Amino acid sequence: MTSTINGGISFWYADAGIPAPREPLPGDASADVCIVGGGYTGLWTAYYLKKAVPFLNITVLEAAFCGYGASGRNGGWLYNGIAGRDRYARLHGHDAAVRLQQAMNDTVTEVIRTAAAEHIDADIHQGGVLEVAYTPAQLSRLRNFHAVEIAFGEKDRVLHGARETAGRIRIAGAVGSSWTPHGARLHPVKLVKGLATAVEALGVTIHESTPVTEIRPKHAVTPYGTVRAPYILRCTEGFTPALKGHKRSWLPMNSSMIATEPLPAALWDQIGWEGRETLGDMAHAYMYAQRTADDRIALGGRGVPYRYGSRAATTDNAGRTQPATIDALRAVLTRFFPQLAGVRIDHAWSGVLGVPRDWCATVTLDRSTGLGWAGGYVGSGVATANLAARTLRDLVQQDAGQSGPTDLTALPWVNHKVRKWEPEPLRWLGVHALYAAYRTADRRELTAHTTHTDRLATLADKISGRH
Ligand SMILES: Cc1cc2nc3c(=O)[nH]c(=O)nc-3n(C[C@H](O)[C@H](O)[C@H](O)COP(=O)(O)OP(=O)(O)OC[C@H]3O[C@@H](n4cnc5c(N)ncnc54)[C@H](O)[C@@H]3O)c2cc1C
Repeated sequence: MTSTINGGISFWYADAGIPAPREPLPGDASADVCIVGGGYTGLWTAYYLKKAVPFLNITVLEAAFCGYGASGRNGGWLYNGIAGRDRYARLHGHDAAVRLQQAMNDTVTEVIRTAAAEHIDADIHQGGVLEVAYTPAQLSRLRNFHAVEIAFGEKDRVLHGARETAGRIRIAGAVGSSWTPHGARLHPVKLVKGLATAVEALGVTIHESTPVTEIRPKHAVTPYGTVRAPYILRCTEGFTPALKGHKRSWLPMNSSMIATEPLPAALWDQIGWEGRETLGDMAHAYMYAQRTADDRIALGGRGVPYRYGSRAATTDNAGRTQPATIDALRAVLTRFFPQLAGVRIDHAWSGVLGVPRDWCATVTLDRSTGLGWAGGYVGSGVATANLAARTLRDLVQQDAGQSGPTDLTALPWVNHKVRKWEPEPLRWLGVHALYAAYRTADRRELTAHTTHTDRLATLADKISGRH
């Protein structure tokens, strides 16, 4: 039996190939806008800014290569979830959060539309998102979640019982699910590679192998020279703590994935999944999965959540994950689909996402310094990065006097401020305690026959500031 590849950035890169490297920054330079980070956020921002103002001189500085981070490693759920919506509702009112949600729904369509317009074939299939419950407690959370999403304007969301769920995907023990059309499955690397090519074709300069060591107003400092620009936009997500002065900004949280071998038609006949919905569950330490274009299952979950001292931001190991995490993800796979007990796991990998102290995604432009940033998407940045990019475009244009406020600049996540994470060892203790509590709560909910969410999980949510 062929063994599992562990690392190598991700299965998506093994599949689509690592791109030819672009030249590093050759020395000091100037630009109108300098973007730090070549993931979805940085590249979409370059794309929309250049489209809006073609004469802008835009430089992207990328530490490794475009798509090296979460954008080249994720689960390929392009969906309408945004971290922090419920808190934004509390802070700015329900209507403001409904506008944010509507903007996210539109963003799914925008990514699909723009990928097609730019001839980016990213295996996009809009089968919606299916979130399933397999315990009584999960079912009651699912019903509550479903009602809340409808209250935020998703009138087209559908609640399924056990039989209808099985009609979509036959998952062992599933008792219900909630389905929304606002989601699509995609190949993350095909998207990020296509985007980098499109951005370059528009005339944006991309320098790879160019780590920015410090960001100051109007300066992005690298070992090869400094780029001076009126606007410096930080799009570094889970790697942000490696930047000078940002050690306790966003916490680099790990997420790990496995990809099976391509499954034969006989197994798919048993499983169903013809709609190729992205698939998730209502566990506290939740899983996410997709059926890939070449008929594998790619499935992810938390694994070891966080490494002491925010180390994941600096020592990445090309996406290697722990053997215990691979075993845990395989156990999730076979809990969902027991008939897959013997299938080969071709690839396992991990990546980092950015988690702000209040778990709320943000997009900001400080008009007094010209420094901007977007991120803190937690686990839902594939679509959110696109909304953030269009918002950064509008904020820069507004600041430069080229336009006024827009619908996007009025959204409640714009210019949101958040406090820093606690120093170590509190940060490590807190995150590990949180996920230990979630895992215990999930185990207890599996055996308890109560519809109540386990008290430990509720407590953990409250203490962590997640809800
Ligand atoms: C395993 C995993 C699964 C996920 N699954 C999903 C999913 O299915 N759906 C979803 O919505 N979200 C998912 N996410 C989250 C999503 O992938 C991210 O939110 C999104 O890709 C963030 O894009 P980004 O461009 O902001 O950050 P990144 O993609 O991380 O890009 C940041 C870039 O900045 C570069 N960089 C960092 N520091 C510097 C520096 N100092 N100088 C220069 N360059 C620098 C990095 O090399 C990197 O290329 C997942 C994340 C992971 C890790």
